[in-house]
Amino acid sequence: MAIGKWTADTVDVPVELTFWGVRGSIPVPGGDTARWGGNSSCVEVRHGDLPPLVLDCGTGARALGVKLAREHARRVHVLLSHLHADHIFGFPFFMPLYAPGTQVRVGLPAYSEDEARERLGRYLNGSFHPVRQREMPALAGYLAVRPGRVLELDGWKVTPHRLNHPGGSMGYRVEADGLAIAYVTDTAPFAQPGEGLLAGEEPQPAERRMLAFLQGCQVVVYDTMFDHDAYLEKMTWGHSYPEYALALARAAGVDRLVLFHHEPDASDQELDERSARFGHETAPRVRLAREGETITV
Ligand SMILES: [Zn+2]
Ligand SMILES: [Zn+2]
Repeated sequence: MAIGKWTADTVDVPVELTFWGVRGSIPVPGGDTARWGGNSSCVEVRHGDLPPLVLDCGTGARALGVKLAREHARRVHVLLSHLHADHIFGFPFFMPLYAPGTQVRVGLPAYSEDEARERLGRYLNGSFHPVRQREMPALAGYLAVRPGRVLELDGWKVTPHRLNHPGGSMGYRVEADGLAIAYVTDTAPFAQPGEGLLAGEEPQPAERRMLAFLQGCQVVVYDTMFDHDAYLEKMTWGHSYPEYALALARAAGVDRLVLFHHEPDASDQELDERSARFGHETAPRVRLAREGETITV
């Protein structure tokens, strides 16, 4: 199959985000999480007939893969924020990797394509899962994702941004036909408590860079695993809380904020309460990511 310019018909077509996994750290299926969802991070981004873009491959990627295989997707782009298990556990279960006639390209933080292959290969080496990379016939190549280096992927323009997380993580700004969304997980705030944006002060330098990254996005999906008190107890864990995400989104002029990467212990009832607490915000509008839901941009 030729890899050339993608001639898609995308005029006046929305960007759609579908949440296949919204949970952080570990999947938590069960009665207490049935309504908001128990699968770990995976978001599908679509725009007309551009190739699907998949953000992270937590356990939600299994069901997404079944759908994409049924669609006979010819090309799929996967971008991984980082390699913590909750973001890659679904990767070897992602059916398009085994589908004849499909090409899946995988981007992850690395300095070179070889390093990207080698980093993912540590997981797919026959120890943690029986299938190795070379046994995935549709795995068509790797992309080395580096902060600020723009990727042009068949009509998608993707800008990676370095996040604040142990071992590193990458946020992605995804643009197509003038529409822009950002996927920002996993990350701690970019200023200490009592400093910067949330303290009503000038943004810290790292906050300024994040604001520029988010500027003009219609939708931002943001790690808010903690509430404020949990964040103060676990500041080194590399996760944020809703008030901080809201302050950033507001300062960046974002239309809609989606709270994401829910704490595994958060029950449906607790997430209902969180939804009620932030759902009245108007600038930006706020909602919680719910497994199975699609947001149209
Ligand atoms: Zn995570
Ligand atoms: Zn992580």
